[in-house]
Amino acid sequence: MPAKILDGTSIASDIRREVASDVKAMAAAGMRPGLAVLLVGHNPASEIYVRGKVKACEEVGIYGEQHSPSESSTTAELLALIETLNRRNEIDGILVQLPLPPQVDSKKVLLAVDPAKDVDGFHPMNVGYLSTQRPGLVPCTPAGVMEILQRSHIPIAGQDAVVVGRSDIVGKPAAMLLLNANATVTVCHSKTRDLPAVCRRADILIAAIGRAGMITRDFVKPGATVIDVGMNKVTDPAEFQRLFAGNAKREQTFHAKGSTLVGDVHPEVAEVAAALTPVPGGVGPLTIAMLMFNTVKAAKLRRGQVATAS
Ligand code: NAP
Repeated sequence: MPAKILDGTSIASDIRREVASDVKAMAAAGMRPGLAVLLVGHNPASEIYVRGKVKACEEVGIYGEQHSPSESSTTAELLALIETLNRRNEIDGILVQLPLPPQVDSKKVLLAVDPAKDVDGFHPMNVGYLSTQRPGLVPCTPAGVMEILQRSHIPIAGQDAVVVGRSDIVGKPAAMLLLNANATVTVCHSKTRDLPAVCRRADILIAAIGRAGMITRDFVKPGATVIDVGMNKVTDPAEFQRLFAGNAKREQTFHAKGSTLVGDVHPEVAEVAAALTPVPGGVGPLTIAMLMFNTVKAAKLRRGQVATAS
């Protein structure tokens, strides 16, 4: 039986609806949550992401503002801007869109964000809160992965979970969240020996690698749940054929656009797994929904109120 497709778009819209209702109640009590997004310079991909984030704020009723310092900004100038945002009470979340221009000390800038407003959850303070199971802000993409699992009623406690990828923004926090939810967690990376065999132990397999279709059916235990975090743009026709030969719909869009968005999981995995997130329409939509959730969570935590989920 083909895998059940876990519909991230629909889960994300449920979360946005819940966030919008929270925001409405908070605004009525004079506490409208606010998010400031910093976009330094003119990176076209970053501009698209930031536009999406500001638009999502408007849709759920969060106050959003965008700051666009010039490409030639110095570390000192950005630190001064962050300091101002840290002090402004109506701003609950500060998001610094990466990458920053090469002359800027990105680590220093990210460290300057008040951990209470760090809606990306990258600050070492929030990393520490996550690993010690204290209330804090959790990185959006792995938090979204957990929402997909929980809202799809996939059992986690006691299950073998394998995370492929150990980045600070996806792999490591995903592993920590799964551990906190009582899974038995293995984290794999580029030096892992016999990756397919390790992955085949997984009841829950999380792919956060950045390599199109690398996880083939040999990596997957029959009946496993597979969460595909990867987002890779494929432009090579031979690579496209390896992944989507015979898929008329994909072929049509590939020929029209010259590219297609592909996850780290090969489509053939749908024949082995019990449940699978698609790309696009899986983890991707959850990332912005969880940013909205985190902004509300930050607003509540800063006011001593407990957040409702995650
Ligand atoms: P990253 O920082 O490049 O980390 C990739 C990880 O994969 C590293 O830990 C690396 O191992 C491991 N890896 C690379 N090649 C491997 C191989 N052949 N075998 C085993 N492990 C291998 O990437 P990231 O930022 O975590 O992102 C991962 C993917 O998720 C990308 O496709 C990205 O676009 C996507 N993403 C999606 C969203 C979303 O909203 N859906 C958000 C963020 C990221 P080493 O540590 O040993 O180098």
